Amino acid sequence: MSARESWRYSAARLSNEVRRGAVTAMEAVESGWEGPAREWEARVHAVAHHDAAARAAGSRAAVKGPLAGVPVLVKDNLCTTDYPTTCASRILAGWRSPYDATVIERLRRAGAVVTGKGNMDEFAMGSSTEFSCYGPTRNPYDLTRVPGGSSGGPAAAVAYGLCPVALGSDTGGSVRQPAAFCGVFGLKPTYGRLSRYGLVAFGSSLDQVGIFARHAGDVALLFETLGGADPCDATTRRTAAPDVSGWDRGVAGLTFGWPANLWAEGVEREIIEGLEDAAARLERAGARRVTFDFMPGEFAVATYYLVATAEASSNLARFDGVRYGFRHDDSSDLRALYTRTRTGGFGPEVKRRILLGTYVLSAGYYDAYYLTAQRARTRIRREYDQAFEKCDFMLLPAAPTLPFRLGEKTEDPLAMYLSDIFTIGANLAGTPGLTVPVGMTPEGLPRAVQLLGREDGEPELLRAGRAIEVGGEPARLGRETEREFAWPSKR
Ligand code: GLN
Repeated sequence: MSARESWRYSAARLSNEVRRGAVTAMEAVESGWEGPAREWEARVHAVAHHDAAARAAGSRAAVKGPLAGVPVLVKDNLCTTDYPTTCASRILAGWRSPYDATVIERLRRAGAVVTGKGNMDEFAMGSSTEFSCYGPTRNPYDLTRVPGGSSGGPAAAVAYGLCPVALGSDTGGSVRQPAAFCGVFGLKPTYGRLSRYGLVAFGSSLDQVGIFARHAGDVALLFETLGGADPCDATTRRTAAPDVSGWDRGVAGLTFGWPANLWAEGVEREIIEGLEDAAARLERAGARRVTFDFMPGEFAVATYYLVATAEASSNLARFDGVRYGFRHDDSSDLRALYTRTRTGGFGPEVKRRILLGTYVLSAGYYDAYYLTAQRARTRIRREYDQAFEKCDFMLLPAAPTLPFRLGEKTEDPLAMYLSDIFTIGANLAGTPGLTVPVGMTPEGLPRAVQLLGREDGEPELLRAGRAIEVGGEPARLGRETEREFAWPSKR
């Protein structure tokens, strides 16, 4: 393959080529823009901000580290000095961060280049990337369908070929659900393993930066690069992050939970077929299935929409027209400045969350809602702990449906909220989850499953993800990965 075709490489392969001088960092970064983006970006709209001069500067500065020359699209809620950071919200229009998020700093220190900012639902609230002030992102496998959300831009970009890896954020599923809809890997790490410093806060006790990639090995590579304690984020853990270097070791001897009660109803047939396919691959690779019932996701969804909105209403109080971005200029006094700025700056979904969050925290309702939700959260965490006494990881859907059509759920917030029914629990529990693609439906839509692990269970998740990626064939575990990704065809 030539430098022009290097967008097809995995991040691991690409950085090798750059380190040995076969491809320059500039060629590595531009190949995605000159090739697949020409064909797809105008129709998919995965990118919210890009800037050729910033890419060129980034490419020139790229060091020969483990991610040398690897382009990375990062969600528009991660602070970067070289692009605007707006959370796809009018209220942050044009805002530029004076500093890089810790994960961005670590990317650059490893030689990676930020290739742009990914489109998203405003302030990461949503499951379809339709709530962006820049307009929606579309699913590259079917342009009439959503890419999932809220990190739909980064997920779609990795799927169509702009970059081999990308960063998103996952508060209730916003990495794992779009990864499933776009047919790529998506990791939500254990809470506290990746720094949140410079990630614009949504629900601080739930938010984690997440990783998109086309191959299990690339997820491991990014996790190794980004993980670890950060003095700027007091919620990061001081102990060393789990060692994921054994991602290609296979799954012989591991047990996986099969909580089939969760898909007894309300889950599309193609999703269940994907689960059966993944389970068969894991068994072929030597893992053992244990069947048990697990807590239905409805409890987690109900709890989440109290905890997440409470935290969001508090976190979003800082956007008042005084310090950041957009300011309503027709404001006679301070109160009018706040009101008009927030009325004009936030979109409807964000306003809905702020209202709900303020309500559940209000004096008269705090005990009934917020406190009850905190108690429920403790119970949920216990359910997860108990499940992982029975198995090394669980296999379950990432989402109950295949990618849905644009506009299908925008008028029905509850239907939208339910697309995270399988992902939200792990955020409440603080435990990791990995979306793994498992082929395509006959109509050409990606199929995927989710693996949930115990705290610091990333090594098992990646071993299992790799085993599924290679069809459960142990002989292929350590092989080159490039050919195993199915690209979207022209549409
Ligand atoms: N869809 C969920 C929400 O809207 C989760 C979002 C996320 O993970 N950022 O809150």
